[in-house]
Amino acid sequence: MTNVAKTDIGPPLYKDQLPEIIKNNYGQWKYHEHVKPGVLKHVAENGDELYTVRVGSPRLLSVETLRWFADLADKYCDGHLRFTSRHNVEFLLTDASKIDALIEEVEAEGWPVGGTGNSLKNLIHTQGWIHCHSAAIDASGIVKSVMDDLYDYFKKDDLPAKLKISLACCLNMCGAVHCSDIAILGIHRTVPKINDEEVSKACEIPNVVASCPTGAIRPNPKKKSVTINEEKCMYCGNCFTVCPGLKIMDPDNDGVAIFVGGKTSNARSGPRFSRLAIPFIPNEPPRWDSTVKAIRNLVELWVENARPGERYGEWIERIGWEKFFDMAGLPFTDKHIDDFIFSVPTFRSTTQFKY
Ligand code: SF4
Ligand code: SF4
Repeated sequence: MTNVAKTDIGPPLYKDQLPEIIKNNYGQWKYHEHVKPGVLKHVAENGDELYTVRVGSPRLLSVETLRWFADLADKYCDGHLRFTSRHNVEFLLTDASKIDALIEEVEAEGWPVGGTGNSLKNLIHTQGWIHCHSAAIDASGIVKSVMDDLYDYFKKDDLPAKLKISLACCLNMCGAVHCSDIAILGIHRTVPKINDEEVSKACEIPNVVASCPTGAIRPNPKKKSVTINEEKCMYCGNCFTVCPGLKIMDPDNDGVAIFVGGKTSNARSGPRFSRLAIPFIPNEPPRWDSTVKAIRNLVELWVENARPGERYGEWIERIGWEKFFDMAGLPFTDKHIDDFIFSVPTFRSTTQFKY
């Protein structure tokens, strides 16, 4: 298809792997419809129709599950399936008569079909305790617990607008939670503990100093180690990434913060960052009951009070943040005021609070 030299470096060009119907209609799609929860229909200029069946997945899938999905794709849609950035599995069908049978077979095994239209989207999340070394909270465990509780909102499409909930297990935020309707963010609350011996043996001091985004780390030549200015530390864990002698994990003080009101879309209003709503909830494995309950409360509040089409942040902007805190029964504390030493350029100069 493409006129490029073949090498063994890098992945194959994505265009070579597209289903024929997408190759034939590349850039020629006329419109799409939302057929029903979990099913989309795209229609091309030449009349070709492509149906998408969206299945929620927990992101971490076994080889057996992947093979099962692949077998289903062979059976119903010539092997055409893809994974979305929110960890959905999507089957791409050209034969509409096979949609219901596919959904029945998928749901019989306990997988939800939905996540389209005005629904809860599949929760996107980061590595958590499964993999990343600087995680303040788990990712898969919390997301599974929240999604189990909000399962029906994924399968229906009668919310005021789409609802995106995301999780990042530290404030480096691989999960892009700063622009989600509801964000679950893992936070450390204590300064890394310096193990001078380990730092001197295992870490390159210039790298460690350079790793700190706030300039809180300085060399400590006497001990061939470093010092940390606690006032400047924002508990990001970057230094621990380059130096195992600066452990930041703290089981008693690490936990969840919940932010609300972010979005990336430009529809109706511009993209916006989410704002802190709940400063801290402790880690409560295995089902994170307080976090699950807090998120359900926030979701139900929005469902009951938002106007049709209003995303979470748009609803709050309309009623005002003070009113939102009142309605949500959340105390407004010093933690909600953005007084971080390096946030001066973003301070408002009005008399209004900045959340
Ligand atoms: Fe690791 Fe932080 Fe990304 Fe979680 S958000 S995977 S802890 S870097
Ligand atoms: Fe700097 Fe982050 Fe380490 Fe604190 S945790 S010292 S801010 S790199």
